Amino acid sequence: MKKDLIYDFCPECGALKMFAGKDGRNRIMPSHEAFSLALLDSDGERFTLVSREFQFRQCDGKLCYEKHGRFSTLSVEINYHTAENGIAFKPQVSGIPEGFRLEWFDGPQVTVSPDGDLFWPLCEGVIVKDLTGRNHSEYSRYRPLGFAYPDHFYGGHFPGFCNLQFMAHYKPGDGGIYFGSHDPEFGPKAVEYDSRTPGEVRLSLQTFCDAAQNSWEFAGEYLLKLIQTDWMEAAEIYREWLPQKKRLVALPEWIEKSPLILIYPVRGTGKDSARMQENEYFPYMNGLSAVENIAQRTASTVMPLLMHWEGTAPWAPPYVWPPRGGENALACFRDALHSKGHLLGVYCSGSAWTRQSCIDETYSTEELFEKEHLENIIMRGPKGEKDASICCGPTAQRLGYDLCLATPGARKIVSNEIMKLADFGIDYAQYFDQNMGGAFHLTYCGGHGHPEGPGIWQTKTQQKFLAGLHEMIRSRNSKLVLGCEGAAADPYTGVLPLNEARSVCAWAYGYPVPAHSFVHHEHSTNFLGNFVCFHFKCDWEKCPENLLFRLAYGFNAGELLTVVLKSGGEIHWNWCLEWEHPAPDNEPVLQLLKVLNDMRRRYPEFLLYGKMQRPLHEVKGKPWTFVYKNGRTFQFNSIPVSTWEDAAGNTITFAVNFLPEEQTAQVDNDSTRTFPPLSVTVL
Ligand SMILES: [Zn+2]
Repeated sequence: MKKDLIYDFCPECGALKMFAGKDGRNRIMPSHEAFSLALLDSDGERFTLVSREFQFRQCDGKLCYEKHGRFSTLSVEINYHTAENGIAFKPQVSGIPEGFRLEWFDGPQVTVSPDGDLFWPLCEGVIVKDLTGRNHSEYSRYRPLGFAYPDHFYGGHFPGFCNLQFMAHYKPGDGGIYFGSHDPEFGPKAVEYDSRTPGEVRLSLQTFCDAAQNSWEFAGEYLLKLIQTDWMEAAEIYREWLPQKKRLVALPEWIEKSPLILIYPVRGTGKDSARMQENEYFPYMNGLSAVENIAQRTASTVMPLLMHWEGTAPWAPPYVWPPRGGENALACFRDALHSKGHLLGVYCSGSAWTRQSCIDETYSTEELFEKEHLENIIMRGPKGEKDASICCGPTAQRLGYDLCLATPGARKIVSNEIMKLADFGIDYAQYFDQNMGGAFHLTYCGGHGHPEGPGIWQTKTQQKFLAGLHEMIRSRNSKLVLGCEGAAADPYTGVLPLNEARSVCAWAYGYPVPAHSFVHHEHSTNFLGNFVCFHFKCDWEKCPENLLFRLAYGFNAGELLTVVLKSGGEIHWNWCLEWEHPAPDNEPVLQLLKVLNDMRRRYPEFLLYGKMQRPLHEVKGKPWTFVYKNGRTFQFNSIPVSTWEDAAGNTITFAVNFLPEEQTAQVDNDSTRTFPPLSVTVL
């Protein structure tokens, strides 16, 4: 009788060699190592060890490693057992020598072929088409398979830039593997892939270990499973495992009005850096006619989400208050919006600390930093380095550090600032922009009463802090809702009610898929996002329907709709594109926004509270070609569909014809049907 699962380890080091189903076809490539791990000494010096440096033996259900040449007390055991269609692994490390901390553990190591698609959970989900491209991506500071301080947010940080902790590798139509971390504590990891060795791609779930002394055991299991289809099957495996999730912070009442998020700055002409002057939307009341026009054309409640409004300097966290021009100026705008049933939102820039703004050279906190001894509450690298993870440097937005949110001092600074927004009557603040996914960046600070290295303690601290902020807000009778950049990562979905999706990032690697919505939609709400720098990825002149395509994508992902303004109240292609560039044709965009948002309001049980399912129907719309800036093209269906299930178990399927032309298309291989231009059809 043929076995359902065939697997094998290297007799010399226990590395995975073979992983196949009944048909015997190996779905992986032999790995070079079973694991690697990093120790830090008391000076923060890193020692990276690999499985082949140990004496190895395999016993029943266990891979055992001991007698390392340099660290003789150290031993590693990887316990494993077969699970449905796969193997579950649970590593543990003991005998960590005195004076050393275990920084991270990376094993079991899984290697796959560069052929096939990779599902990577970066920013809600990406299908990576070219797996060899990881090392020359636009994110030059990426350090392959050795994610470290400062994380720079360009690696696969979970819970952060990666908001889920699993990957999948498969050939469409032929299946492949699921590789996931079933870690119920959601500890920090790098969910990564690397292709430095030609002809192979290594998948990694490098896990940070709370700077463990003596011993460490992984809190959950790593699962390697066979899959038959694609990323949705992988997302189903993960969703089924995911411990019961619920909203700890309720959605605001206004969410059922499905506000259209309208993003624009009050300083500058579309860029995020360099000096900027107040623009035509300042003072704030100057923006009201644009808001009202869009509201009327789309029959929607609108929430302006203001950029560059901070009275400190644009992008100079943690301080944002008072607003530029003073509280009264913003209060007029707030009241005018509220009187017409609209809402007011603001961007902030997270929990970094700005010593010197590079946008506005008059803004500096050097004196305050010295006077208050704030060097005691910032995050540090393993050797005590002071740096910041994001938007920091002479050519970026600021010079400074990151606050360690485990310190009462840092928490007080952040919460004080947020309470000013709450007391003022702002409806939504994306305070944790740049804390992508709600992240607490990697830190190694000493003297703060927490382990001197990243680990589960960070996730727990951040969950508690975010929940506590909303409790404080409610205790002041404010209805302010907080959010972050990127969908909230697994452990933060319950405490960050509304967040800005970042599917724009997917286009640097392949194309986006709504995996976060698939896993979390019924208890986590996102809006489509500002598509920052999308013009570096998409050749909009060669595929001018790309904005319509993106709106259809957001609708089918169950996201609130979002557009960005340029001058003159016109909808622009995306954020961070200078206003001097011509805008898309606004007419079809406004029409599509109107029909999509009407549908969102009509079916909240599905599109706001529903669970995403694999599409029950297929519509063969004509192919629409996305043109990347580098000339590469990819074809998409111009009538994409999504299927949703409500709490009572009813299902519904929506089909969006995002092209401004009528289409007659085949549905489910049998009948044909007519789809009006710029329409949604319930199938
Ligand atoms: Zn700290």
